Amino acid sequence: MTERSLTEYREKRCRHIEENLKEIRDNIAEAAIRSGRSPEAVQLMAVTKTVEPFFINHAIRCGIDLIGENRVQEFLGKKPELELDGVDCHLIGHLQTNKVKQIVGEVSTIQSVDSLKVAKEISKQSVNRDLVTKVLLEVNVGEEESKSGMTYEAVPELLPEIAELPGLSVEGFMAIPPLWAEGAELRGYFSKMNQLYVDMKAQNIDNINVNILSMGMSADYVQAILEGATLVRVGSSLFGARVY
Ligand SMILES: *Cc1c(COP(=O)(O)O)cnc(C)c1O
Repeated sequence: MTERSLTEYREKRCRHIEENLKEIRDNIAEAAIRSGRSPEAVQLMAVTKTVEPFFINHAIRCGIDLIGENRVQEFLGKKPELELDGVDCHLIGHLQTNKVKQIVGEVSTIQSVDSLKVAKEISKQSVNRDLVTKVLLEVNVGEEESKSGMTYEAVPELLPEIAELPGLSVEGFMAIPPLWAEGAELRGYFSKMNQLYVDMKAQNIDNINVNILSMGMSADYVQAILEGATLVRVGSSLFGARVY
């Protein structure tokens, strides 16, 4: 690309991000109100996988204060170029035990805790560094073989075990319903997750502070909010289609 066309491309894409963000915020506010909550009760996360730091920084300047990345390596590579003052960073992709050491301390929250094994490693690495990592338990709500996440049924048993580990704080749940689900079926998965969230919150288990229900992406964040999501993870609707 010539310098001139690069500038034009960037300006155009930045304008799109601004327009998209406005539309997403409007949709979130409307859905929150329809679900009997205030717009502030739903957090917007900008999912930044494959997005260059230039555009992530633009979104931050437009008011984004929460970003989510899938891969440890990609995030650590981009991080020095990001303007993260006042921005909260979460890991949302599957985490291998051998990568835990690299990500602990680099994000406030790991949303993709899908086993006791990975939770124990997060605990160990957090204690070593004298910090507390917030975690969400990822639930494979559609029981898909291709997806990571613990089963819905395993949560009541695993949650207290994970909550006992030092150096981490269980803050809630994350889920991705099956890609094919739509309409009432999709709403059913979200509502099932909300049920779990409400139940676990009500149990008053020691050392947990359940206050996040992370569900809903570009295609379905409105439905997720209507069923109780407190955090939606939006990538392509904000930044445009991903180019890998
Ligand atoms: C990529 C991704 C998203 C965002 O997906 P979009 O459809 O682009 O909004 C949300 N959550 C997770 C876990 C993802 O990997």
